[in-house]
Parts: sequence; structure tokens; C-alpha cells
Amino acid sequence: MGRGHRYRCECKASTNPPPTTTGQYLFTTRDTMAETGTLHDAFIDELRDTYDAEKQLTKALVKLAKASSNPKLREAFESHLEETQGQIERLEQVFESLDEKVRGKHCDGIAGIIEEGKSIMEEDFDDTTMDACLIAAGQRAEHYEMAAYGTLVAWAQAMGHGEAAKLLQQNLDEEKAADKKLSGLAEGGINQGAADAAHSEEEEEPVGAAPGGARKSARKSGRR
Ligand code: ZN
Ligand code: FE
Ligand code: FE
Repeated sequence: MGRGHRYRCECKASTNPPPTTTGQYLFTTRDTMAETGTLHDAFIDELRDTYDAEKQLTKALVKLAKASSNPKLREAFESHLEETQGQIERLEQVFESLDEKVRGKHCDGIAGIIEEGKSIMEEDFDDTTMDACLIAAGQRAEHYEMAAYGTLVAWAQAMGHGEAAKLLQQNLDEEKAADKKLSGLAEGGINQGAADAAHSEEEEEPVGAAPGGARKSARKSGRR
């Protein structure tokens, strides 16, 4: 973490006197909680991480849309890009609801997922295979976001941050819907199209042909 945990949890401490029986909300001043982070600090950290992840994704979604051949797939990435801009605004509202400055913190996880997606886009695949790979890359990102929002919603609820929980749940629902849409496109023809292309190629090879003779570059690098 490496950052001073100076946030004073506003959820209950500021309006209700801290309970003395459980001690749960005792440590609410800067003086007493200068050293030890709380779930609230972890929550703000995760929010900043997710805010940054969404910002990185707006750039990545533009690339995914451009690389798509299937018009429905391109449309899916473009409409999720619009949604993502709305999600960023919602996250800003979450920060505001918590009296926190709107601030991102570099998300290494999504950066890695985006890097992998870029590598796939540099490969030489037929159009349908590339579309299947773009879906795979997009779904990795969606699942990462779903995991992040799932945690954020649960933590917000546990701490009584109702407004934040509501907004985060809306983002989570959109991620789930985007993921489903991509599954629908993959299973609704793109995967089968790519699979047919892969296997018609094999069938064209005469039995006993020299191994690898008629294979394309993607195969040479060990892919099946
Ligand atoms: Zn709190
Ligand atoms: Fe998102
Ligand atoms: Fe998303």
C-alpha cells in the first residue's frame, strides 16, 4: 500500500457517536488511526484502481472495436465504450458520495490484460478467428471488472455506504450484461465460423501430406 491511511471513515462515525462496546468505530480520528489501514482505506484504494482500469479500458475498447470484422461485434465494443464512459462518471459520483477526491491509481491487472489483447491483435489470423480472439480478450477484461465491482459492492454494503453500493451495482450489472453479449456473439456464430475455417483447412490437406506443408503462419508458431 505504502500510503498514509489518513481517511476518516464517514460512514457512521461522523453522524453517530462511536460505539464503545464493540470498538468497531472507535478509531476514527487521524491521530489514532495514523498507522493501521481499515477496510474503508482498502475500499478507497480499490475504487481508485477500478477508476483507473475503466480509463485504460476506454482506450482499449476503441482498439477492439477497430480490429473487429463482424459488425455486431464492433457495435458491441462501441456501445460498451459508451457505457464505460458512464461508468467512469458513476465512479466519480461514488468518490463524491464518500467526500473523496476523484483520483485514479494505476491498475496493473487491467494493464496486463490489455497488453495480452494487444499481442493478439498483432497476430495474423483470418477475420473470424481474430473476432473470436477479440471476444476472448474482451471477456478477460469484463471478468476482471466484475470481480472488482463484486468486491466493491459487498464492501460498500458492509460499511453502510448505500449510495456508493447502488452506483457500483449499476456498473457491475453493465459489466455482466456486456460479458453476456460477448458470449452470445461468440456462441451465436463467431466461434463456429472460426472453427469451420480451422478444420476445412485441415480437410483440404491430402492424407499423408508433408507435416506442416500447407499450414499457415499461425500454425507454424505451434497454435492449433
Ligand atoms: Zn466507511
Ligand atoms: Fe467497465
Ligand atoms: Fe467493462
